Amino acid sequence: MSEQSKDKHQQRQQKLKDQVDARIAAAQQEKGIFQVITGNGKGKSTSGFGVVARCVGHGKKAAVCQYIKGTWECGERNLLQGVGVEFVVMGTGFTWNTQDKESDTAAAQAAWQESKRLLSDASLDVVLLDELTYMVTYGYIDVDEVLEAIGNRPPMQSVIITGRAAHRKLIELADTVSEVRNVKHAFDAGVKALQGFDY
Ligand code: ATP
Ligand code: MG
Repeated sequence: MSEQSKDKHQQRQQKLKDQVDARIAAAQQEKGIFQVITGNGKGKSTSGFGVVARCVGHGKKAAVCQYIKGTWECGERNLLQGVGVEFVVMGTGFTWNTQDKESDTAAAQAAWQESKRLLSDASLDVVLLDELTYMVTYGYIDVDEVLEAIGNRPPMQSVIITGRAAHRKLIELADTVSEVRNVKHAFDAGVKALQGFDY
């Protein structure tokens, strides 16, 4: 690189740094964040659990409510329960396969009551509601009730909802929304779900 292009590069980097510094200085508001992680690609729940680990790593407190996949084996649960993260797991009453709407609704509602308890607990810094979007899509939990509980939560508490096809109202209320797009997935090439990687 010539001296001249080195200078140019340095000037560009300095300008970028100034812009970033100005934006950091402008972000003065302190409040808990409501994040939605949606889309068809892989990485929604792992991202949510990443935040839980990050929170606990700072000596803060987190809790998780697992909708749908709660009764399955789960590496994150094995690890995080051991460091004091409360897990609420949707009961075995949830059938999914049999499409028994009554027992599915009852199981979802029971988990939702527990979620509401977490959302009113000011000692929790992060609450992860994993796969909650499906409960709303299937009509097992009323979206307006979710909005109300999130809207009334302790101001410094952060909440993450994961799952495909997040309801428009959840996306509107959220501070941060990420959509994970499926570019390709090993499963489509016939690779089995792998312990320690997929669950
Ligand atoms: P992960 O838990 O790995 O972060 P996710 O939360 O984004 O995945 P889910 O829809 O909750 O995705 O699916 C959970 C399981 O399904 C995981 O084992 C994941 O590997 C798998 N999976 C996720 N996306 C896809 C996809 N596009 N095709 C096939 N399988 C997928
Ligand atoms: Mg998931």
